[in-house]
Amino acid sequence: MKGKEIRKAFLDYFAEKGHEIVPSSSLVPADDPTLLFTNAGMVQFKRVFLGEEERPYKRAASCQKCMRAGGKHNDLENVGYTARHHTFFEMLGNFSFGDYFKAEAIEYAWEFLTQRLGLPKERLYVTVFREDDEAATLWQKIAGMPAERIVRLGEKDNFWAMGDTGPCGPCSEIIYDQGPEVGCGRPDCGPGCDCDRFLEVWNLVFMQYERDETGALRPLPRPSIDTGMGLERITAVIQGVSSNYDTDLFSGIMAGIAELSGRTYQEGGEITTAFRVIADHLRASIFLIADGVVPSNEGRGYVLRRIIRRAQRFGRLLGLTDPFLFRLVPRVVEEYGDFYPELQRAERAAEKILEIEESRFLETLSRGLEILEEELRKLSEKGERRVPGEVIFRLYDTYGFPQDIVRDVALSRGFELDLEGFERLMAEARARSRESWKGTLSRAPEILKRLSESLAETPFVGYETLSTEAEIL
Ligand code: ATP
Ligand code: MG
Ligand code: MG
Ligand code: MG
Repeated sequence: MKGKEIRKAFLDYFAEKGHEIVPSSSLVPADDPTLLFTNAGMVQFKRVFLGEEERPYKRAASCQKCMRAGGKHNDLENVGYTARHHTFFEMLGNFSFGDYFKAEAIEYAWEFLTQRLGLPKERLYVTVFREDDEAATLWQKIAGMPAERIVRLGEKDNFWAMGDTGPCGPCSEIIYDQGPEVGCGRPDCGPGCDCDRFLEVWNLVFMQYERDETGALRPLPRPSIDTGMGLERITAVIQGVSSNYDTDLFSGIMAGIAELSGRTYQEGGEITTAFRVIADHLRASIFLIADGVVPSNEGRGYVLRRIIRRAQRFGRLLGLTDPFLFRLVPRVVEEYGDFYPELQRAERAAEKILEIEESRFLETLSRGLEILEEELRKLSEKGERRVPGEVIFRLYDTYGFPQDIVRDVALSRGFELDLEGFERLMAEARARSRESWKGTLSRAPEILKRLSESLAETPFVGYETLSTEAEIL
């Protein structure tokens, strides 16, 4: 099955089970200033779960655009390092608003995976919250899951909460064993391990409590269900590949990158990584632009800018030194445009915005990379393997180099980063900037200098935006 067909099969299955099919909401949450990006299917239903809003349906299903870069869930720095994480991805989900609960949620998930998609039962595991005997029993009864394949995990992994107070409850994850070839090989590798072998495909959240200010849990009168399954992950499993990036969802994009660079995705090592990072970041950028985000020095726009810059840096590894992302826009629209018509509408704008943004960073990228290489060389000579915070800060401050580019380069050369030192310097810069902006007339020239710098081609990043960045990333 193709990725597109899996998406459709999911929505069709839940429609048959009486669910209202609700379109994806925007990546920019409509009325939730506390949230940087929509990061799960439940976000657009938050008020329904809280009982603040009524809908004409009690069960719903969706395929939701999600972004996990910045904010509480941040997978930006996993991209390129794991086979299962993206910044932008699609989350398939079914929801019950005080209607069905654990038994049906488990039954539907199991039937969909094993009957509709035909996954082999012997490869599947589930995790449940340590104290959730009910879920463990249901998995045995409904799915015939043997006790030894039901893994009990603690609060960190298997207890979900909307916030410090409010609805919360245990969850249960469905895991697919991709086989020992994919794993880390550690003796304790098993479901719950951080490597890619025991792949978490679907998370079922059983919202059954409400937590009050004292931390006490009260049972909700009408418990609810919130589930999420990554389309790219389930597609990888169905297509028998061990990386999301090897699925047909990415094949057109990979072909486009190959065509521009003359390299091939399968080359391995740094080259394959570069293809993956570029593919992910390109897709994310276009979806963000289509939802109205433009590159800037703060908030959502700054996340977009970081993503574009990181993609450019990986482009260099493929010899792509001219703006290139904008040329790949049609590849993304081709794969996603029919399900997400906003991409078709935004195609020209995305090309233009990417081209401008890429051109702006080109020179500083070369210059900054040279300086970084020089610093690494000097450190090597001294026998040091740790990049000082001062260097990371200087590259950020002078060249608009997001810290993750420094990290990628440093890690690939076997260096680590002094992030604490970097954070300290950022905090100092922020404090200094507050001082100067409070400023008197005598400070004016300094302020003007900064302003003109920020308007000029140099990607100076104002210190007020540093604080934004520190808060969101
Ligand atoms: P992981 O432990 O692998 O990081 P998670 O527990 O953070 O995943 P959830 O918050 O439970 O993920 O999200 C529900 C589902 O969404 C996951 O089971 C997975 O299939 C998918 N998913 C989560 N994060 C990503 C991501 N960064 N890229 C692609 N799919 C994801
Ligand atoms: Mg995660
Ligand atoms: Mg998890
Ligand atoms: Mg999870």
